[in-house]
Amino acid sequence: MPEHAASLVRLERATRTYDAGDLRVAALAEIDLTIQSGELIAITGASGSGKSTALNILGTLDRPTSGRYFLDGEPVEGLDDTELARIRNRKIGFVFQGFHLLERNTALENVELPMIYAGVAPRERRRRAQAALERVGLATRMHHRPGQLSGGQQQRVAIARSVVNSPLLLLADEPTGALDSATTQEVLELFSELNRQGTTVVIVTHDPNVAAHTKRVITFRDGHVVSDSAHPTTVVLLQAGLSAASAPSSPSPQLDRSLS
Ligand code: ADP
Ligand code: MG
Repeated sequence: MPEHAASLVRLERATRTYDAGDLRVAALAEIDLTIQSGELIAITGASGSGKSTALNILGTLDRPTSGRYFLDGEPVEGLDDTELARIRNRKIGFVFQGFHLLERNTALENVELPMIYAGVAPRERRRRAQAALERVGLATRMHHRPGQLSGGQQQRVAIARSVVNSPLLLLADEPTGALDSATTQEVLELFSELNRQGTTVVIVTHDPNVAAHTKRVITFRDGHVVSDSAHPTTVVLLQAGLSAASAPSSPSPQLDRSLS
């Protein structure tokens, strides 16, 4: 399988460690992960397993403590925060459980916001925001504020906002966590549709039903990838207490803890 610079996402032995007093928490422990353009992926695992940490690194909101991250072939460690913010604005869309909409602004104004940062002219901004809201089925709600919309509608506004700069990568962290099951289905269908139209989509979820809607499921446990439906051999190696990439002589402390 080709896993060269052409991959959209490539993490190599990426770790993320948090220092809390004397305690070091390995939120991510030497993760290797490759995502090709056009994939639709679920990252699943228990609370605290490192899903959000991984997603934040993929989205360049955070940096690995060690290891490397190549986004669209480019090593992220060489970029300063301004360059990263620019890349994030152009290449990455985010959707969060809590929608993160500006409460005082209309749906249309919320969707226009990323284009303001990207320097798109006002008339074009308006045109593209309207098209994005039509695409998510909110043609008749453009001038509503978030408080005048249902949870599912608010998440649709957030999804319209996330795709309005035509990102290469759409990252969603528990996007259906605040929605009822019928609305969850609608939002998942929307992600599938965006994926069919060419956007690479990664959905973090602890809900197995959500994961069932994607082509590839990656499972985290204690900061490790313990299974990846695209690379079934990873599971075997990790069950033997070995990291697929580094094959250390002793199992990691995180894995020890999970087994004890
Ligand atoms: P998930 O999204 O799978 O629930 P997270 O990625 O949020 O998990 O967290 C992974 C681990 O890292 C957890 O043990 C969590 O407590 C720890 N962690 C996350 N963020 C921080 C932080 N800012 N400071 C210290 N520890 C953190
Ligand atoms: Mg999380």
